[in-house]
Amino acid sequence: MEFKSVAEFEKGIKGILISEKEIKAKIKEAGEYLNGIYDGTPLLLVSILKGSFMFLADLCKEVKVPCEVGFMIAKSYYQGTQSSGIVKIEMDLQQNIGKYHVVIVEDIVDTGRTLNDVVKLLRARNPVSLRVVTLLDKPDRRIVDFKADLSLFTISDLFVVGYGLDCGEYYRNLPYIAEFKE
Ligand code: 5GP
Repeated sequence: MEFKSVAEFEKGIKGILISEKEIKAKIKEAGEYLNGIYDGTPLLLVSILKGSFMFLADLCKEVKVPCEVGFMIAKSYYQGTQSSGIVKIEMDLQQNIGKYHVVIVEDIVDTGRTLNDVVKLLRARNPVSLRVVTLLDKPDRRIVDFKADLSLFTISDLFVVGYGLDCGEYYRNLPYIAEFKE
């Protein structure tokens, strides 16, 4: 993907689907949700890179209980119609999660395969507890029966960019979620 001008870059944006203000308000609520559950016992917020970097950065500011942050890059691989795949960890957490309440912070649940596999993988490491918070949920596209503990926004079957989500590595820096124009 290459852009000859800002105007050309902006042509990829069909329209704002979720504004900065709406995202901010929902993240405040998500922070309250987490503050209501955890009470100072070791808490680890795990961002699945790269899509959730911006969401994690804003969400952790709303978390008032002591917490650490961790990052991982995980990709799931499938063959044919299988609903569960092999998770390839391209970058693992530094923390041994055995002593933590873990909250996976994800950008979007689409087919559900990635989170389904990552949850399985992290559960096998015996954290004290494990929850999943996702910014976006596209239930119409689900292949694996996966439900996050908290979804901030449910969207229809659209390809979206912005607020961490990319197309060809671009558009992650938009402060809002936009529908992408193919
Ligand atoms: P899954 O299909 O395993 O639930 O989602 C895998 C990954 O696909 C997500 O973490 C996200 O990076 C990417 N993805 C799914 N839907 C979209 C979308 O609408 N926009 C962008 N930019 N990425 C998406």
